[in-house]
Amino acid sequence: MEKNFSLRELNTFGFDIRARYFQELKTMDDIHKLIDNPEFIACRDAIHRVLILSGGSNILFSNEFFDGFVVYPNLKGIETLDENDETVKIRCYCGEVWKDFVDYTVSKGLYGLENLADIPGKVGAAPVQNIGAYGAEVKDTVYQVHTIDLTTGETKVFSNEECHFSYRDSVFKELISQRTTHALSQRDDKSLPVGTRHALYLIFAVDFVLKKRGELKLDYGNIRNYLINNNITNPTIQDVAATVKAIRAEKLPEVGVVGSVGSFFQNAIVSIDKYLKIKELYPNVPSYPVDNNFIKIPSGWLIDRAGWKGHRENHVGVWDKQALVLVHYGGGKPQEILDLMKKIQESVYNKFGIEINPEVNII
Ligand SMILES: Cc1cc2nc3c(=O)[nH]c(=O)nc-3n(C[C@H](O)[C@H](O)[C@H](O)COP(=O)(O)OP(=O)(O)OC[C@H]3O[C@@H](n4cnc5c(N)ncnc54)[C@H](O)[C@@H]3O)c2cc1C
Repeated sequence: MEKNFSLRELNTFGFDIRARYFQELKTMDDIHKLIDNPEFIACRDAIHRVLILSGGSNILFSNEFFDGFVVYPNLKGIETLDENDETVKIRCYCGEVWKDFVDYTVSKGLYGLENLADIPGKVGAAPVQNIGAYGAEVKDTVYQVHTIDLTTGETKVFSNEECHFSYRDSVFKELISQRTTHALSQRDDKSLPVGTRHALYLIFAVDFVLKKRGELKLDYGNIRNYLINNNITNPTIQDVAATVKAIRAEKLPEVGVVGSVGSFFQNAIVSIDKYLKIKELYPNVPSYPVDNNFIKIPSGWLIDRAGWKGHRENHVGVWDKQALVLVHYGGGKPQEILDLMKKIQESVYNKFGIEINPEVNII
């Protein structure tokens, strides 16, 4: 266990954050030992300050000192569990880098993850917000999720259904937010009875089912045009993954060069009535159907139309190639991002009457 540990390299915003306690977990045995660690127990049960951190590419620390225990799960390994004529079932441990895992499956000619190429972060975090990009979501390939509850040491396997996946959401994200809310309301209570504890699930492995034959998803974003422009008429999954990577590289800040968490806000889901009113004023508003009652409007478009694209305030700003991305140019403080977030939310609300919510986990 490390004390006063720097998380600068472990948050892609690149803020200079320190944690009171930090521990990397490489094996199941490390996890069991952690559960007996007195400092961990104190943080978990008394002041409720435990954070499971993987790649830090979807986290914004609101303070420069995290007064608690950061758990860094880093179990490695990829195993084929089962295979038939149609599908392959693969277990991947939480510490594997997501984009390397996607490259591995694509290189084997397996369908399912190609549109999710080059998303930063680790495999263990992928189910938490049901990562998605270019018309694909990880939920469509997750068979089950293996967890251990850090409050009891018990393991639990969540089936795909039990994960309650929805747009950038899952049971894991809901539980994290419940714990955070609970922690804030109980911060001064130093001796909570065990019954009031919320489970703290660490995802240590994910089982995926990938297809040997499948349909490519080419209709989202610019994939099809990009393929046509590059004279690719009969694309393979390798072509799709390469295309997604090329499009992402054009639009998104490079991790480690400019600080960001990718999309800072979730896309807006609005009623059809609301959408039609906006369409009257802005006939070109982009939209994607959600169901019979709701439509998704890209928040990047709303932020752009509200005039924020490329805007810079001191050390932070809005990325000039994608307005959904807030960036830290270096030397700044998390509060600057939080202030900018509020200004953007207010301005989008004043212009369109739509509330946009952060996708990032604010700690
Ligand atoms: C440039 C850029 C582009 C991005 N593009 C996309 C995109 O296209 N689509 C998309 O969906 N996301 C995108 N993201 C966001 C991010 O990459 C994903 O959300 C990713 O899954 C986060 O992984 P991580 O390992 O960094 O998790 P972290 O940021 O470390 O953690 C995220 C959340 O998961 C929890 N968590 C992490 N690991 C575990 C675990 N093992 N068990 C239990 N809980 C855990 C954490 O407590 C936290 O609440 C992008 C980010 C960046 C910087």
